[in-house]
Amino acid sequence: MPEYRAPRLLVPVLAAVIVLVLLADVLWRHRTHAVTDRPQASASGSRDTAEQVAPGPGKVSGAIARSQPATTDRAAVRERLRFDAAGSYLAQTVEAGDSVIRHWGARGGRPIRVAVVPWAATGYRDEFAGAVQWAVVRWNGVGLPVHLETTRDPSGADVVVTWVDTLSGETAGQARIVWNGSGEIVRATVQLVTHMRDGKAPTSGQMVTMALHELGHVLGLGHSSDPADALHPTSTAIELSARDRRTARLLYDLPTGSVKQ
Ligand SMILES: [Zn+2]
Repeated sequence: MPEYRAPRLLVPVLAAVIVLVLLADVLWRHRTHAVTDRPQASASGSRDTAEQVAPGPGKVSGAIARSQPATTDRAAVRERLRFDAAGSYLAQTVEAGDSVIRHWGARGGRPIRVAVVPWAATGYRDEFAGAVQWAVVRWNGVGLPVHLETTRDPSGADVVVTWVDTLSGETAGQARIVWNGSGEIVRATVQLVTHMRDGKAPTSGQMVTMALHELGHVLGLGHSSDPADALHPTSTAIELSARDRRTARLLYDLPTGSVKQ
């Protein structure tokens, strides 16, 4: 009878609406998460010409707003940056970028696993991996609250280091970092070349320079304007300078997030 059709149809229609609403909610949550974790910066390495910081449209999210240091904390961070400006290059790189402090989180004491993967690149030599090991030991000696641990297994690694024949322009290495809504770096990749601009293989010293520089980016550092520092864009340093070490320690002393008012 006609008067009973409506109630009978109502149940499946209501069920369909509820399913659609739940599905939309799941899709929205997934999208929000994906946007928050998308790669947002590319830091190009030794002998490179540019370091891009390109915040994506998902940068301003609820997660970021909740994770920002309180206004007074941010004022204290800016004060600390100014106070230590002479001995480090953190202030200049934060001001030149998007004013966000980024570094790895505490991770419950777990090391940052750095996979050193000699994938097929023409001209790869085992000493290149040794140069990365050397750079890891140097950065581990700085006394940061995070510890790098090398592995040959890229599965589950936090950082993957690979080699390529060449990179565009004069770039000899590049690091790409990914951070979460709190500004904590969650993973990174590094590419190093097996052929320099002149077509020759990098010397062990050059590979150490490139690895020190790119691992500095992996840890969250930007470029220094002093050629004596490993994080100078055209550095030839085979050791970390006092300013490199001091800048890294200062970086990890500060909370992640924006330092803007
Ligand atoms: Zn660089």
